[in-house]
Amino acid sequence: MLANASPTLLAILVAVTGLLWLLLRRQRAPEARNPSLPAERTASLPPEKYWSDGDSRFRTCFESSPDPAWILADGKFVACNAAAVKALGYSVCSEIADAHPSHLSPEVQPDGEPSHAKAERLMRQVEETGLERFEWMHRKADGTDFLTEVTLSRIMLDGRVALYSVWRDISERKRVEKDLQLASAVYENTADGIIITDPNGGIISINKAFTEITGYVLEEVRGKTPAVLKSERQEEGFYRQMWGILKGTGVWQGEIWNRRKSGEVFPEWLTISAVRSANGEVANYVGVFSDLSAIKRSQEDLERLAHFDPLTDLPNRILFRDRLTHAFERSRRYGHRVAVLLLDLDGFKIVNDSLGHPFGDRLLQLVAERVQQTVRVEDTVARLGGDEFALVISNLLHGEDAVEVARNLMAAIQVPFDIGGHSAHVTASIGIAVFPEDGEEPNTLIRNADAAMYKAKASGRNAYRFYQAEMTQAAQARLANERGLRRGIDNGEFEVWYQPQVDLASGRYLGAEALVRWRDPERGLVPPGDFIPLAEETGFIISLGELVLNRVCQDARRWLDAGMDVGRLGINVAGPQLYRSDFVATLRRALDTHRLPPDHLEIEVTETFMMENPAEVRRILNAIQAMGVTTAIDDFGTGYSSLASLKELPIDTLKIDRAFVTHLPDDPHDIAIARAILAMGRSLEFNVIAEGIETAAQREFLEAEGCAEGQGYFFAKPMPPEDFVRWLQARQELASTVPA
Ligand code: C2E
Ligand code: MG
Ligand code: MG
Repeated sequence: MLANASPTLLAILVAVTGLLWLLLRRQRAPEARNPSLPAERTASLPPEKYWSDGDSRFRTCFESSPDPAWILADGKFVACNAAAVKALGYSVCSEIADAHPSHLSPEVQPDGEPSHAKAERLMRQVEETGLERFEWMHRKADGTDFLTEVTLSRIMLDGRVALYSVWRDISERKRVEKDLQLASAVYENTADGIIITDPNGGIISINKAFTEITGYVLEEVRGKTPAVLKSERQEEGFYRQMWGILKGTGVWQGEIWNRRKSGEVFPEWLTISAVRSANGEVANYVGVFSDLSAIKRSQEDLERLAHFDPLTDLPNRILFRDRLTHAFERSRRYGHRVAVLLLDLDGFKIVNDSLGHPFGDRLLQLVAERVQQTVRVEDTVARLGGDEFALVISNLLHGEDAVEVARNLMAAIQVPFDIGGHSAHVTASIGIAVFPEDGEEPNTLIRNADAAMYKAKASGRNAYRFYQAEMTQAAQARLANERGLRRGIDNGEFEVWYQPQVDLASGRYLGAEALVRWRDPERGLVPPGDFIPLAEETGFIISLGELVLNRVCQDARRWLDAGMDVGRLGINVAGPQLYRSDFVATLRRALDTHRLPPDHLEIEVTETFMMENPAEVRRILNAIQAMGVTTAIDDFGTGYSSLASLKELPIDTLKIDRAFVTHLPDDPHDIAIARAILAMGRSLEFNVIAEGIETAAQREFLEAEGCAEGQGYFFAKPMPPEDFVRWLQARQELASTVPA
């Protein structure tokens, strides 16, 4: 605080003490400017004719006058005294005698009038009026200019008209005036209140800011002591101490509570300084203060912002953790349990996206209210962010007692909310962790409750779950996986396997799907289902996808060069890969690098992903097709695509998901679906291929229903490149020199 206030305070103090000093000095000024001139420095005098013997007394007066003076006749100096010679920096009067006044001046006067013309004008004027007083800029022998105040009068000397001029250097006075002006401008215009008292504390002067801050004008406080501002906030001892320091060091600085005229008590930052006169006694006290109420208020606002959620006014994560720590301390003392509940709304995103953010915000406020009404006042409810709320339930005998709280919360939230006539329906998933069993640190408890909440979500939502240690293990495994992925890419642990696709009627080889595998040195061969989702989340999918794409192009080129017909190779591309990288450019680069004809590649995109963002996907797929690469919709049947949207999309092949093939040909439901898909595929002129054909019966059924192509264990499992080549060679009866 001191560091903030001091530069301004310092400036004001300097100005105010300067003001007082100048006033004191001014009173003493006459004696300071009273040099007694030594007699021998009296200038030798010019033409004697102006002085008759009887004038010798006056001549002495003239010559020894402390104020510069001279006599002019016919526009020239005819006599000047020692003070004048000295003031102008000359040594003898004869040096300036006979000169015109303009010769001892700059060319032009400060008002812009040329010195010569102005001197002539003034001299003529005095001859008529008898007396003129004016300011004149003189120039010293060394060339420096200084401002003087001149009194020019007409006199008669020996029957002739002459001009008598007395003048004095006023440059110091001008400077002081300017300083005074400046000091008083600071005094009046500063935002800090200033109060000046006599040595007994009687108020002499206050500035405008004082009035603005306290509400008092000078008439109301003049002569009174600053005690008129006293609030009851400070003890007598405080003031005693303040005066002690002020008397001892001359300065006191600190925060003090005062009272405005309105009665309002307010904090101020005050500096009092004693101003001493020349003899060392305190002449005045100067108090400078700034109103701290605004700063205090914004400090409080900041405090609020830092600890409360502005939307719901509930404690935020920081305050929540704080409360949790306190609850743990109390619980340790009394041996009670503390439950941490994490509540996440199910379906909030849908409400928020479909009805708009203001609607979503209102819903969160209403949920906050309901949650608070459901628990006891002493329980803390916080909003951790988004649609996630957290509760501290303390004083529980058993951790299981939290179940009742969770059930009440779920029941309360299930009741539809009415928002401006709209009814919003959401449910809650709740995770519970109990202190001290599930952790002793706030962060551990929050994390564990979070893991339990995810379990509740995974169980189908609108449910609660207690934390179990295995959840941490799952989270740790995930972390290890993420680290492993990075290492796997760096160490080249990823392989691409190939699974053939055949013509159902003839069994002829048509192409293959490239499927990635991870050969983890610790875990062995890892299937893509175990790492693709994580790679998508973390962004690793971009580099992994590029790796697969290049590997396939490289393999295909090698096989083509060996004279094999590899047909069409399907490559799986994940959503984030299409969006987050410039996939089209990457694809073009891969084809160029390996000189692979584009019709050897087919890009597979899952149906779910396509439906998420049809416009963007259409743009990218169009670009892919334009390159000559074909496109396929993967796992078809799982993504609820509408027929209309399918027609719009640039798709060549439709891959029926394994889920609809597995139960063929016995399950009537799957039969119906398979038939529908095939009929649709035909009418939209898609190339249709069935995935996961494991039995002859499935193959037969699908062929009979008009499905042209198939892929599955029945024909061949995914194989590493060397096995795939052997499989292909056996089929195509190629020369045995083909490299793997
Ligand atoms: P998908 O594209 O639907 O691939 C077909 C999956 O079904 C493959 O599993 C394949 O091995 C398996 N499969 C094929 N025939 C049969 C069968 O007769 N019976 C059974 N039970 N399964 C069969 P995989 O290799 O585990 O791949 C799983 C998924 O991982 C793939 O599903 C694909 O979505 C994704 N994936 C694989 N490789 C990549 C890749 O390089 N990039 C991306 N982004 N995703 C990939
Ligand atoms: Mg696929
Ligand atoms: Mg598939």
